[in-house]
Amino acid sequence: MDIKIEPVPLAERKPKPSDESALGFGKLYSDHMFSMRWTRGVGWHDALVSKYKPIAIEPSALVLHYGQTIFEGLKAYRNPKGGINLFRAENNFNRFNISAQRLDLPTVEPTVLIKAIEALIELDHEWVPHSQGASLYVRPFMFGVEPYVGLKSSSQVQLLVITGPVGAYYPEGFNPVKLQVCEKYSRAGPGGLGSVKTAANYAASLLAEKEAQQAGFTQVLWLDAAERKFIEEVGSMNILLKIGGTVITPPLGGTILSGITRDSVLALLRSWNVPVEERRISIDEVLEQHRQGKLEEIFGAGTAAVISPVSVMNFKGENYTVGDGATGPIAKRLFEELTGIQYGIKPDPFGWIQTLYPGQQQAQVQTANAARAAN
Ligand SMILES: *Cc1c(COP(=O)(O)O)cnc(C)c1O
Repeated sequence: MDIKIEPVPLAERKPKPSDESALGFGKLYSDHMFSMRWTRGVGWHDALVSKYKPIAIEPSALVLHYGQTIFEGLKAYRNPKGGINLFRAENNFNRFNISAQRLDLPTVEPTVLIKAIEALIELDHEWVPHSQGASLYVRPFMFGVEPYVGLKSSSQVQLLVITGPVGAYYPEGFNPVKLQVCEKYSRAGPGGLGSVKTAANYAASLLAEKEAQQAGFTQVLWLDAAERKFIEEVGSMNILLKIGGTVITPPLGGTILSGITRDSVLALLRSWNVPVEERRISIDEVLEQHRQGKLEEIFGAGTAAVISPVSVMNFKGENYTVGDGATGPIAKRLFEELTGIQYGIKPDPFGWIQTLYPGQQQAQVQTANAARAAN
């Protein structure tokens, strides 16, 4: 599929942020976005890169009423040689299609999304931050836009990709978080939507996160919905626990999101010969291991924070300090190794990185034009 490109005139482009240490997360957007439409019986059409701007949808658009929408999140990192690294992007696009199928939305060829991101970064490469820790966040999403206030799958779908610079999650180094085990609410139930990236899961978590924060905790530790017994996820990250030298993480295949960071962490740990177990682990077992002094580390894993160490876990009003309350050695090593690979500072033994060289296409065109002019 051909992508039509409508570059924003240079004079209309937004100023780039001058202070990369104050970027924060999700506040700024680059000059361009990608859009594409799908119509039942026709397929995907009207692929376009154009100005980032408000979109118009009907008030009766299905997504606004029944939540038929999915998203992905990945980052582009500037490497020391001037290229721009994408990290395991094809995994994001495969997962996008798994989410699409669960929400009865159309799937998209991963190559189309790769092309869309290449086209966006070609135009907006100056938006990719230069400082270590900062990156360009890439957010593909799609939603049903058919105007119809009745429950059904939309016959018209809008897909967008927006990008924006985001700051280092830990500007002053690792900052361990405090978790509260959530006893009142569930994130996702068996057979539900927990294993896919769809808005409903995050809507379901908002009140729980707010109540945990009001109680003085950073994030919620989710237990399974059926028994409120087994550890599932932390906030919107996967969770890993180091107990007696073994790293344990809940298994996929149910209510847990299949995180690409989680998968990368497991691959690194196995390559370092650290024992790893993907199995269910109950909150009772975690507390028992804590009593025995074997709970060494807990950390979250996800694209936004990469690794998020946990200092304190609160359950039924009781605080439990994890290890010595500071960032553990495995969390630290994983953070350094993963970010090292993402920023092209460390070797990439797993073939996780794809490098784009934006600006060169333009440079080649200019050279060709200059050659033509000279003849
Ligand atoms: C996105 C997400 C993750 C992390 O996935 P990554 O691919 O590592 O970014 C984990 N849990 C939930 C609920 C998520 O939405």
